[in-house]
Amino acid sequence: MAALSLAAKSSGEPIYLDHAAATPLDPRVEAAMHAAAAFANPSSPHAAGRRARALLEDARERILTLVGGRTSGAIRDQLVFTSGATEANRLGVLGTAGRHAGIVASSARDHGSLVTAAARLVAAGWQGVPLPLDTRGGACIAAGRLAATSRGRVVVLCLTPLCGQTGIRDSLEPLAAISPATTLLVHADATQAIAWESISFRDLPLTSLAFAPCKFGGPRGIGALVLRGDVPLEPLADGPQERGLRGGTEPVALAVGFATALELAVAGRSEASRHVTLLRDAFERNVVAAAGRHGIDSYVVGQGADRGPHITTIAFRGCDRQAMVMAADLAGICLATGTACASGSSEPSAAVAALGLPSWVPAAAVRASFAASITSAEVDLAMVKLDGVFRGFVAGGLHRSIDTQ
Ligand code: PLP
Repeated sequence: MAALSLAAKSSGEPIYLDHAAATPLDPRVEAAMHAAAAFANPSSPHAAGRRARALLEDARERILTLVGGRTSGAIRDQLVFTSGATEANRLGVLGTAGRHAGIVASSARDHGSLVTAAARLVAAGWQGVPLPLDTRGGACIAAGRLAATSRGRVVVLCLTPLCGQTGIRDSLEPLAAISPATTLLVHADATQAIAWESISFRDLPLTSLAFAPCKFGGPRGIGALVLRGDVPLEPLADGPQERGLRGGTEPVALAVGFATALELAVAGRSEASRHVTLLRDAFERNVVAAAGRHGIDSYVVGQGADRGPHITTIAFRGCDRQAMVMAADLAGICLATGTACASGSSEPSAAVAALGLPSWVPAAAVRASFAASITSAEVDLAMVKLDGVFRGFVAGGLHRSIDTQ
């Protein structure tokens, strides 16, 4: 990661603390993609096409193996390459649901792509059930209860093991007790989780699993849906590619980069988790102290809960979250109000709002997210800059810009 951190620190570049939205391409991944030189169409029967096909299938197998997919035996799990996690989420939910309307459940901790996929099923006659978050910020216990009491109906559960807004984990364990039934379809969005925790698809009661490598040093423009081998999938885009499950010529170089990025993430996971947890904790401590010095109260969302290492969401009382992110941007720090695809929304993050916190928290919540490539010197510099941002807020009276109840 040395080359990455050097690049980030050069020539007055902004300090990038938005790795939950997208990470820089790891130079080792870039080198692997370049070395593969996989320009040919993997469906072409000539030598160049066959070579591209071999690279594509090798990448597929490597990724499937790393996430514990069944790669041999009577029922082999499938991996469908998509354009990213958004498409993989949609394919996982809409493609497996089948034609007989049942129950579809999602929660406020889910990414917008899952929420809208569930809404599509509701528009088609399914019963939508919003899963309440428990005191730990999880939805799996409620999902387990729903599944256990809905026998005889098709139930599609949308779950997010690591919330992209708050970083709060949600153990899939409560689902393990439910006997595997063909009417229960469990889709997990592991986009934020996969780099940070070991996920074994075959050992979890999952039907499908979505993720994308641009969240862990891989290329953007590609994602994956892992699908249980015995579950039928209706494609959203028809075509002969991906065994008829997703039309469109596969981006072979991106698939090679995807597999390399996941291998690197898995191999470096323990060390990266340790490093990033220390950075995040120092950031939280120091930013809360800095805000306090300027008379601004703060609240770390999910404090005390089981959280992934790389995300923190902190509310600064009275400070509008969008104004804070803009001021930080002007000061040279890239933060976020929430998931990038919702950043234009004037609504506070649903995942924060659903936690039952005081109303000033969702309105003032700002997300910072980290990667192993960040140094503690960068976090220290971000603190100096944020101190100036708080000073500017207080001097301009902006720290009372929203309801502070
Ligand atoms: N799921 C989660 C939890 C995310 O955080 C994101 C994006 O940030 C997505 C899905 C969508 O990913 P993509 O940008 O690959 O479409």
